[in-house]
Amino acid sequence: MSVDRKDNTNATLLDVTSISKRYHDGDIDVTVLNDISFQVHESDQIAIVGASGSGKSTLLQLLAGLDSINDGQIKLYDDVLSEVCSQQADKLRNKHLGFIYQFHHLLPEFTALENVMMPLMVRAMSVGMVRQQASEMLVTMGLENRLNHKPSELSGGERQRVAIARALVTQPKLILADEPTGNLDRKTAMQVFDQMMEMNQVLNTALIMVTHDLTLAQRMTDIYELEDGRLKLTSP
Ligand code: ADP
Ligand code: MG
Repeated sequence: MSVDRKDNTNATLLDVTSISKRYHDGDIDVTVLNDISFQVHESDQIAIVGASGSGKSTLLQLLAGLDSINDGQIKLYDDVLSEVCSQQADKLRNKHLGFIYQFHHLLPEFTALENVMMPLMVRAMSVGMVRQQASEMLVTMGLENRLNHKPSELSGGERQRVAIARALVTQPKLILADEPTGNLDRKTAMQVFDQMMEMNQVLNTALIMVTHDLTLAQRMTDIYELEDGRLKLTSP
C-alpha cells in the first residue's frame, strides 16, 4: 500500500517501501504491520496515532533498525537500513536519529549532564568538547540549574527535557518519539511538547511522534493512523 502525500521539495530522509512485520504466537503468525509504504523528508513533522496494540511502537522500532522486518525495505538516506549489519545500523542510528520514549530511559546512576554526554562519547571528540555541547543543550532546554542532578532528583517534566536534550545533542536529522509526553500531567505535557517542537524547528530536525493526544497530533504537519496493520494518511 502506498500513501500519497503532499509534494515536498526537501530531501528524502527515510524511504519505507512495502514493509511488513509478523510475530509468531505459538503456531500462529500475527501480522502487526502489513505492506506499509511512506516517506519522511527533512523537517517533516509526522504524528502517528492508533489504538493501543495497533503497532505504533513496533513501527518506530523498525524505522530505527532496532528490529527486523519480514518484507520490504527501509532506506535511511542512501543506506538500506533493513539490510546492513548491526554495527553499521548502530552507526547510522547514532549519526542520523534521536529517540525519546514515554518513560525517560535515562541512566539512574548518572547525572543529567552525563546522560546527555553519552550519545556523543562514541564520536571522535574530546571529553571537554562533549561536556560543553551537552551542557549547552541542557541550558537551551532551560536546565542550567539541573546539570548535576540525577534522574531521581528531577521532576517528570525535567526528566523528559533531559531526554529531549539527549536525543538532540547529536543534531540528528530525525527524532523518533514514542508518546514522549504520555507520562506527564496535561500542563507539563504541553510545555514539554512546545519546547520539543521549538527545538526541532531551530535545529531543522524532522519528527515522527506517536501520540494518543489528538490536540498534539493536530499541531504536526501530517497525521497518519495505524489500523489493522495499515498506515493511512488522515488530514491534520
Ligand atoms: P502500540 O505501540 O500501538 O500499542 P505495539 O507496537 O507495542 O503497539 O504492539 C503491536 C502488537 O504487536 C501487539 O499486539 C503486541 O502484542 C505485538 N507485539 C509487540 N512486540 C512483540 C513481540 N516482541 N513479540 C510478540 N508480539 C509482539
Ligand atoms: Mg506503544
